[in-house]
Amino acid sequence: MATIVTDNCDLCRFTDCVTVCPMVCFHADDKMLYIDPVVCIDCGACIPVCPVRAIYEVKNLPPDKHHWIAINAERSAALPLITDKSQPLPGALERKKQLGF
Ligand code: SF4
Ligand code: SF4
Repeated sequence: MATIVTDNCDLCRFTDCVTVCPMVCFHADDKMLYIDPVVCIDCGACIPVCPVRAIYEVKNLPPDKHHWIAINAERSAALPLITDKSQPLPGALERKKQLGF
């Protein structure tokens, strides 16, 4: 089991999640973050701090988001780690509003 980043992170990258993670789980491309399921200890600390509710425990993943389990595993293995908070992407606040947060 692991904790999963889903599509609400896409084009946000607020990175609040990175600052609370006790491990080094998060990997990033130029659009969003992914959690390494091998390193994640499922502490859940990142879930409530995400301002767009992009992060789920696997057991709480809606059925239409199950494909994000494989995406997190594949992308985290291929991308660099991110360990510090960074600036949200341009337009992140607008996207957050569009998502209803
Ligand atoms: S806090 Fe949420 S939106 Fe921000 S990088 Fe983490 S998962 Fe993505
Ligand atoms: S559940 Fe805990 S260990 Fe896993 S990514 Fe979130 S904060 Fe890090």
